[in-house]
Amino acid sequence: MEIKHLARGMVNAYLAKTGNGWFLIDTGFAMGRSKLEQALAREGVAPSDIKLAIITHADLDHIGNCAYLQKKYGLKIAVHEDDAELCRTGTTNSNRKRKASLLSRILWPLMFVLIMKPIMKKFPLEAFEPDLVLSDGQNLSQYGFDATVVHVPGHTMGSIGILTADGDFFSGDTINNRKKPTVADVVENEAALAESLQKIRAMRIINVFPGHGKPFPMAQFTF
Ligand SMILES: [Zn+2]
Repeated sequence: MEIKHLARGMVNAYLAKTGNGWFLIDTGFAMGRSKLEQALAREGVAPSDIKLAIITHADLDHIGNCAYLQKKYGLKIAVHEDDAELCRTGTTNSNRKRKASLLSRILWPLMFVLIMKPIMKKFPLEAFEPDLVLSDGQNLSQYGFDATVVHVPGHTMGSIGILTADGDFFSGDTINNRKKPTVADVVENEAALAESLQKIRAMRIINVFPGHGKPFPMAQFTF
């Protein structure tokens, strides 16, 4: 399986090439739409050629182009059952705790009002009906993708990781790499996140493809 790192701005989207075709992991922000389309074009991939888009969780920076891609190109979208309702209603769970430093905790609401609100006004989150609702342990090989769904609730309750047969792990925001490999600091449920991390520790992961920041070898991650 060949993995292309498509959107390298604020948030990642990945394109996985398998013997059975192309698969998209996450779709980025709506405001990054033209960049996403350009990146696909550079890879010589028409959105209508993608077999399935798998969404790591239903935050607006990961599902921002789902409705668009589904409507315009008929792209099929898969999301975990516990985040499916957020997709259907086009809402995002902003009622979450942020564990970061005091400074960023103070700046976070300010950033939300000054940066996120105007973006959300200009690029409202469009609701969509997921084509495929995923559950823990589900094998995706019947869709042509040799990988397993790993439910890792915590950041959102429907967060998933995707573990390929080669040991590549698409971690969504459960593990990110903004400056260094770190566990999610925006958390809906801390106890669930702790359990999810236990689950991740027990898995055979070689490389992590995070929702934010560069991919890295799992051996670099201590948690
Ligand atoms: Zn994110």
